Amino acid sequence: MKLVSVAIPAPLRRRFDYAAGDIDPALLLPGVLVRVPFGRREQIGVVLEAPREVAAPEFECRPVTAVLDPAPLLDAELLALCQWAADYYHYPLGEVLAAALPGPLRHGKPAPSTAAPTLLSLTAAGSEALAALPARSAALKALLEKLGEGALSRATLLEAQPKAAPALRRALAQNWVEHVAAAGGGAVRMLETPPPLTTEQSAALASLRAAPPGYAATLLEGVTGSGKTEIYLQLTADALERGQQVLVLAPEIGLTPQLAERFERRFGARVASYHSGLSDNERARSWMRARRGEVDVIVGTRSAVFVPLARPGLILIDEEHDVSYKQQEGLRYSARDLALIRARRLRIPAVLGSATPALESRHNAAAGRYRHLRLQQRVFSAAGPRIGVVDMRAQPLKHGLSVPLLDGVERHLAAGGQALLFLNRRGYAPALLCHDCGWVAPCPNCDARMTLHRARKRLICHHCGHAVSMPLACPDCGGTTLVPVGQGTERVEDTLRLRFPERRIERFDSDRLGRAGELERLLADVRSGAIDILVGTQVLAKGHDFAGLSFAGVLDVDQALYGSDFRALERMGQLVTQVAGRVGRTGQPGEVLLQTHQPEHPLLRVLIDQGYPAFCEALLKERRDFGLPPFAHLALLRAEAREEGEALAFLKQARDRMPQGSGIEALGPAPAGMARRAGYHRAQLLLRGTSRTALHQLLEQWITDIETLPAGRRLRWSVDVDPADLF
Ligand code: ADP
Ligand code: ZN
Ligand code: ZN
Repeated sequence: MKLVSVAIPAPLRRRFDYAAGDIDPALLLPGVLVRVPFGRREQIGVVLEAPREVAAPEFECRPVTAVLDPAPLLDAELLALCQWAADYYHYPLGEVLAAALPGPLRHGKPAPSTAAPTLLSLTAAGSEALAALPARSAALKALLEKLGEGALSRATLLEAQPKAAPALRRALAQNWVEHVAAAGGGAVRMLETPPPLTTEQSAALASLRAAPPGYAATLLEGVTGSGKTEIYLQLTADALERGQQVLVLAPEIGLTPQLAERFERRFGARVASYHSGLSDNERARSWMRARRGEVDVIVGTRSAVFVPLARPGLILIDEEHDVSYKQQEGLRYSARDLALIRARRLRIPAVLGSATPALESRHNAAAGRYRHLRLQQRVFSAAGPRIGVVDMRAQPLKHGLSVPLLDGVERHLAAGGQALLFLNRRGYAPALLCHDCGWVAPCPNCDARMTLHRARKRLICHHCGHAVSMPLACPDCGGTTLVPVGQGTERVEDTLRLRFPERRIERFDSDRLGRAGELERLLADVRSGAIDILVGTQVLAKGHDFAGLSFAGVLDVDQALYGSDFRALERMGQLVTQVAGRVGRTGQPGEVLLQTHQPEHPLLRVLIDQGYPAFCEALLKERRDFGLPPFAHLALLRAEAREEGEALAFLKQARDRMPQGSGIEALGPAPAGMARRAGYHRAQLLLRGTSRTALHQLLEQWITDIETLPAGRRLRWSVDVDPADLF
């Protein structure tokens, strides 16, 4: 009889055999989705290999119920990539395949139709109408203005202006906007003319173009505003000329619209987005259009690394250092690393771009594994901003804001600039303290304090989401003097409002930016100059283009200096450099101030006096001394359980079963940095070795063994290969 191997999304690291049954074996091609019986239910799985003839199977095999698609949904390359990821991250293949498929396809829905794309374009009547529109037609005006800059697809337009749908209907009805056929197939028609390149850009591009065909990884280290994106665009044009597709990865949903827009402005509707901000159907459509070769450029976040490519030619990874590329749950993959693996397997080039490359990437470049190209000059202004420190030890503070910092804001606003204040803590204050007895509001589920969100009158735990209304009196002593301790973005915003009542101040954090399109809307107000002061978290440190910004303050550098995670300093250096890169882009001299209680910290001094590359060298030396990545490879076995001690006990058992003589060191088990979170007690065991191969051989053997431990079935455990965080 004919047997077929199927991968099923289940937490089991094995394949399942089914009988072909009544189904024509010729239909059971690798990559085809099938419906199969699984336990007492049915599941959708992926055929892994063409059916094989078996005289008498060892076990009774149930038959495949149905074939879902006539042509394989997953091509051989994508299947192999998923297999590679399953092996490397020691995760069930069926789950990896499920992660690679957009929701509707994963659930067996038919592949969406992918009709020929069109672009929305402003008509002559539209231009006339725009000039005459009254101010109160703001939405319509914004829409026509946007299209006035160039034609866009409906999807990109609505991403930039999520509420524009009614205005668009009206504009189409009035013939102010029309659908035009997108240039597709055939020759590349550029919709805009590329600018003449700077000397540095030309040199970098020439070097990239001179590479022989095939796999090559290039680290493009270019300060913010040095024109990396322009190089991406020109490399993309080359690939399109050759009839190939380009995959562009960005770390954050917030950054994909502006990147997609730049590609779309140049290449038209041959561009598709793929990220979690799209609806399931839109994602499925982008995925299929890439699979069918109907689009040439795919711009997406982490999961886009799994988008199938009919004619792969180039992979671009923007802001490659960003931790968002690493998934922190389930399949804990690094999209950057997978993208490089994919490029190597496809024998196509990959470019990693960043103003602040990860230590690993700089190390790989130094070791000759990547080529290293640099852009050291900004396109529009020669000098980067001056970076200074405020010694907080001698400062009277106003809710965490020092006098020099506030004066800096004032000075730059008076000179017509905008100011940005960065604080990686949302909410009003990270703790609420009883002045009478010292009680601090704790989270009942975590080893953590509740954060005060004063505007919402709530205490919220940032680790488990537990929320209660703000107490009026201390539950321990009944005292009514409850004081917020420390500051979050909300408090900084309030303080700034008191100091600068006539200025427009906006907060950028996940509390404020919850609604879709809110970030884009606020960014537009930043660009138009309507916002004077921006207060925010990481959101502000990423690749957004703020032309009018001339001052930035980092309120709490010390968090990283005292931070327990081994990557904390690297991230601080990236953050400071990225924030500095946002400042003074249009020629006004910029200024950056860092508030710290340790102004003499040696690494902080290196960063400020010698810059990011020297800072990385110093950090790499430390990593080498401590035997940390990239000089060692890590894997973390985590466990969490309801009962105290269970997670630790399980990890001890696991450790006892570790194969000996592998040269891999086991550190722990020990309680996690936050020993209790969301009601679970957490512990971890760290594996470290200098040989990646040895580490993986050990993991493979060991995990199969751990899976049989009865203790493991009573709790949650996971393996994290190349962990981004050790807590
Ligand atoms: P990066 O990606 O390094 O931050 P960008 O490619 O976004 O830099 O370039 C910064 C700005 O300079 C953008 O507005 C871009 O359009 C513009 N730009 C880039 N290269 C050139 C060039 N050669 N001539 C004129 N403008 C350029
Ligand atoms: Zn009290
Ligand atoms: Zn909590």
